[in-house]
Amino acid sequence: MRLAVIGGVAAGLSAAARARRLDAELEIVVFEKGGTISYGACGLPYLVEGRVRRPEDLIVYTPEYFRRERNIEIRTQTEVTGILHPRRELSLAGGERVRYDRLVIATGARPVPIEPPAPNVFALQTFDDGIRLRKFLESRKPRSAAVIGAGYIGLEAAEALRTHGMQVEVFEGSAHVLGREDAHLTEWVRRHLERFGIPLLVNRTVRSLEDLSHELIVTAIGFKPNVELAIDAGIELGRTGAIRVTDRMETNLAGVFAAGDCAETRHLLTDSPAHIPLGTTANKMGRVAGANAAGVRERFPGVCGTAIVRVCGTGIGITGLSSEQARREGFQPASARITAKDKPGYFRGRPTTIELIADRGTRRIVGANIIGEEGVAGRVNVVATAITAGLRIDDFEALDLAYAPPFAPVWDPLLICAQQLSKLL
Ligand SMILES: Cc1cc2nc3c(=O)[nH]c(=O)nc-3n(C[C@H](O)[C@H](O)[C@H](O)COP(=O)(O)OP(=O)(O)OC[C@H]3O[C@@H](n4cnc5c(N)ncnc54)[C@H](O)[C@@H]3O)c2cc1C
Repeated sequence: MRLAVIGGVAAGLSAAARARRLDAELEIVVFEKGGTISYGACGLPYLVEGRVRRPEDLIVYTPEYFRRERNIEIRTQTEVTGILHPRRELSLAGGERVRYDRLVIATGARPVPIEPPAPNVFALQTFDDGIRLRKFLESRKPRSAAVIGAGYIGLEAAEALRTHGMQVEVFEGSAHVLGREDAHLTEWVRRHLERFGIPLLVNRTVRSLEDLSHELIVTAIGFKPNVELAIDAGIELGRTGAIRVTDRMETNLAGVFAAGDCAETRHLLTDSPAHIPLGTTANKMGRVAGANAAGVRERFPGVCGTAIVRVCGTGIGITGLSSEQARREGFQPASARITAKDKPGYFRGRPTTIELIADRGTRRIVGANIIGEEGVAGRVNVVATAITAGLRIDDFEALDLAYAPPFAPVWDPLLICAQQLSKLL
């Protein structure tokens, strides 16, 4: 029995590793069109910044490791050009055909391009993108940069470039940052970037890169799932444009699974299909795809849209829906926002801002934004857990959260915010 996997990064390798763990006999082969596998794309902004010193530091495992330790064959520089499912065959660039019994598609997503391409224009998605951009910075020493797109990659890139002393401007086509309809959050980010000398221009769609005079341009306006192979094979897409899968990562073709940025998942709050391409989700989807491909039934229930980003030294954590998004999804949102110290004053506590959102009808927590210098990941993860568990504000207020002066104040800011919200409901 042979499992073939297309794509050798987060979802593909999680699938291969999980399948191997569950079935020692399975023949597993991974096809990766690039030259590098298993790298942390999430570290690319820090390679640009210089905190990650060498590109190789981003590589977690090598093909040799997979061969030696996991008995998984990895074929790099090998593009799959077709899925001939009736014959259970893949066609490879160069004409070779490879048979499979089970298949996991983990082809990821690619950045939406803005034209025209030019030597000073960069996307920041692949290992090679990171190397190219870093070389450009070292050899050309540009003094000005435009970042197009104020999603998390654009904001991380802006901070990285500013660290090099460049004049950086961020252009965002929509009215919001981080893909979150949230006017308060957007205004906070705008003012914060301004303090670091980075103008953020929202509602400014860049139609052609020729309109910009900056010495360096980074484009980060979103991702499009790589679904062409799947479409040609007769695999159905969902309404998000990514591959439609069940909670076992099955496509509509028997024995063919899809996972990661090329596939949809479900939003736990709205129970509708969602495409929120993130590494954390890709790994989990891949793991479930690998288990099911190995014949063990596992499921991935979905996501609630949790993410975290550092913007010029401050963490921003989001989970669930903003008030605007919640209203559009048919909830009756009420929200409270507070700013409190993240530790006692005598431990140099710094302000953290928390917004908690609950539904008036059910009193369930449906979202949060958390901004602060420390403790943001822990606090946003508490709210993500509450959303997943369907906690009401009444339960949330009573959560037994940790306290000791080096870590948190006696009333955690989350609980102070929950008390405020409870009064409004
Ligand atoms: C700059 C940056 C920062 C990020 N930061 C974060 C973060 O902080 N937190 C977070 O959760 N996520 C983050 N992400 C997102 C995360 O990296 C992705 O969600 C994750 O890599 C998706 O994994 P994947 O395996 O689905 O796809 P990918 O990582 O895109 O891998 C797909 C692979 O498939 C290969 N492939 C495609 N087509 C073929 C074919 N026909 N034949 C053979 N191979 C093929 C591609 O070459 C690619 O290597 C970041 C992404 C970027 C770009």
